[in-house]
Amino acid sequence: MEFQYLTLDEFDLRDKAVLLRLDINAPLDPSNNQILDDGRIVAAKPTLDALSEARVAVLSHQSRPGMGDFTSLQLHAGLLQKTCSQRVTFIDDVMGPAARQAVRDLKKGEVVVLDNVRFCAEEILEDTGEKLAKTNLVKRLAPLFDIYVNDAFATAHRSQASLVGFPYVLPSAAGKLMEGELSAIEKLMSNPVRPSTYVLGGAKVEDKVPVIENILSTRKADRVLVGGNVAKVFLKATGTKLGQRDEEELGTATDEVLKAKRILSKYKKRIVFPTDFGTLTDGKRVDIPVRKLAKVGRALDIGSDTAEKFSEIVADSKTVVASGPMGVFEEEGFESGTKAILESMANTDAFTVIGGGHLAGYAGILGVSERLSHVSTAGGAMLSLLAGEELPAITALVEAAKRYKRK
Ligand code: ADP
Ligand code: MG
Repeated sequence: MEFQYLTLDEFDLRDKAVLLRLDINAPLDPSNNQILDDGRIVAAKPTLDALSEARVAVLSHQSRPGMGDFTSLQLHAGLLQKTCSQRVTFIDDVMGPAARQAVRDLKKGEVVVLDNVRFCAEEILEDTGEKLAKTNLVKRLAPLFDIYVNDAFATAHRSQASLVGFPYVLPSAAGKLMEGELSAIEKLMSNPVRPSTYVLGGAKVEDKVPVIENILSTRKADRVLVGGNVAKVFLKATGTKLGQRDEEELGTATDEVLKAKRILSKYKKRIVFPTDFGTLTDGKRVDIPVRKLAKVGRALDIGSDTAEKFSEIVADSKTVVASGPMGVFEEEGFESGTKAILESMANTDAFTVIGGGHLAGYAGILGVSERLSHVSTAGGAMLSLLAGEELPAITALVEAAKRYKRK
């Protein structure tokens, strides 16, 4: 698989007016709306560096209408200034006269951050690029720019004007962050170096089941190790009885159990189950074998035998992808399964990729991120691509590249 989009290297960017769609959506402190994590803002640096001689307007969003953290991007702009070498200003307007004048006034090497694009009602619509190119947002802003650059990988599953409307009318490129994300996925989905192992866990089982089905049926994965709630759903699909708490919690996941049954009917041999689990008994961690699960309330981590076995399989692999933690790593004593997997990944010279907010966050805390080949900034978008789905914003870049090359 290869995405045929254009990159920044293919454009002469000097003194060009560039509309840069970022995803600098950040978690805010509910008590004072201060930014709690500037990770996505810092991640914009490589693209802004590449645009150091352009005239750049940043378009991004923060949360969505109706939410407490649906705010202006003023504080984001301040942090962007700390990150990049250009002069950064902020304008509290998205597409009105003030915003358009600020874009016209830009000098080479300057950046203006336009306000939250979701302040425009039109941005909430999801439609085709052709239709959304006719929104006021695109009609008013696009004529001011030479090039549109999309670096908002985490929002690539949306088919909104700022993501698919602009590339319909402007020469368009992927930013550096987008390029890094897509080239990691290309590597996984074209011809992964084997053996290729996926380690899937966490609480959001519905995101991971379609990935398991796709990577097993297309043979991108030689084996899948399951942990977290994913393991519980797959165990349920084999008829294994879980503890009462787990049975209650997974009671609503019947669709996922059915899907897991279908996957198991075809690929059972390539799915590796935990053989033991860590549970909380009398206030401390006790590991028990799977057959004793029915007696305890909740399996909170893969057991230590399983962690050892999974780590060995990871160490024997040439490609490893992990998403979602193996256990409730937030609680002391139940982080060890996730830690073992991440450390094993960090210690191999295999091609290693992780994604998902929780797992990536914990890898950061453990300090192993630098020793992994790729840490995705967006779990959802990565999982969609691994599940074989198309992402509208990526498709829009590919279509824009075809139109540009025809000219
Ligand atoms: P990611 O963000 O990495 O994709 P998810 O959002 O799917 O992961 O899931 C993260 C959550 O899964 C964590 O808060 C963690 O506590 C929870 N979790 C992991 N294993 C278990 C388990 N065995 N039982 C209950 N919750 C679990
Ligand atoms: Mg998560």
